[in-house]
Amino acid sequence: MNIDEALRQERLDPRLVPSDIADTNPWFLIMERDLTLLCQNALSAPVSFTFNVSHSIQAGVLYRSNLVVMTAGMFNVLCRASSRVVTSGAFINFDGGVEPEWTPNAESSFKPIISDLSSTAFNWNIESEPWQKSGERQLLFFYILQTLTRFVVLHELGHVAHNHGARFQGGGSSFVDIDLAQPDLLSDEDGIASQAREIIADNFAFIRLKQIQDKELSFKAETEAAALLTNKLLQGEQERIRFLLTAVYLYFHIMDRHDWYSVDIFRLTHPPAPFRLKNLFALTLEKGIDNLSEDEIGEMLMQQFYVCNALSSVAYNHYPNLDLFKEVGTPRFNKLFNALYEEYPKWQLLSN
Ligand SMILES: [Zn+2]
Repeated sequence: MNIDEALRQERLDPRLVPSDIADTNPWFLIMERDLTLLCQNALSAPVSFTFNVSHSIQAGVLYRSNLVVMTAGMFNVLCRASSRVVTSGAFINFDGGVEPEWTPNAESSFKPIISDLSSTAFNWNIESEPWQKSGERQLLFFYILQTLTRFVVLHELGHVAHNHGARFQGGGSSFVDIDLAQPDLLSDEDGIASQAREIIADNFAFIRLKQIQDKELSFKAETEAAALLTNKLLQGEQERIRFLLTAVYLYFHIMDRHDWYSVDIFRLTHPPAPFRLKNLFALTLEKGIDNLSEDEIGEMLMQQFYVCNALSSVAYNHYPNLDLFKEVGTPRFNKLFNALYEEYPKWQLLSN
């Protein structure tokens, strides 16, 4: 089945042809190639990849046709988030930055950032203007965008690898798993099952992302870009993991409902962003880092919490929330944690 037919079968919008919009955003073309290769090679059986023209902000997997789809809306948001980070002046090691400007106010701090990031399609020529002449800043943009898009796609592949599509075989109305900004609430039972699948997909994506990063850095060590990244951003094992945690948190933060403080958390489709980050911290601790003791990793993660918070505050121009982890450590979240722990075996294939 070709991609157009597969999209039609699930009543989704048609494929986006990246060359059609290369004038305003050439990154569709570049990332379509990258993500297609990723999908071809990540699992034992190849999966296809496409962008589609939808403006909604989502990525998903079509199980009947083995196809991962990212909407143009989602890609535009990831481009804009990457460009905000590069423009914010963060990552000061990279030449061509400007003085960070930070003017948070109550209004910008309490509304979901997604509406701001998705107001218009990303325009590369206009939005990269402050740093387009700096090769180093362009590389930083590319690397953040590549990391974000790869995480999103690997997360979808995590659903495939753990066979989450099997539950659709019973003849359900949908054959699609969707990761959507601001989804609806579910029943308690469905919420726990859904959140367990999401955490499993996150873990799969994070582990694979790290493996790919290691492989590429050693394989491309001689190239100018890899040498620059290794010098300025990814000096050692710690820095590499920290960069991935930072980038992935930007994504969690974008997709967060931001109203979970006041809703029944058992009914969410995805755990809140700080809960997802905390889960990746636990995974990092469990996997270990070369030459670091458990206490040292704990210390590193503590600092990383502040880095994630600071970067999202500067990039999205809102106040930091240093109580993020405190909020997801309250008794109702401990109850959620325990319920998920019991749910994981149902959705996990141990061969992955
Ligand atoms: Zn998912």
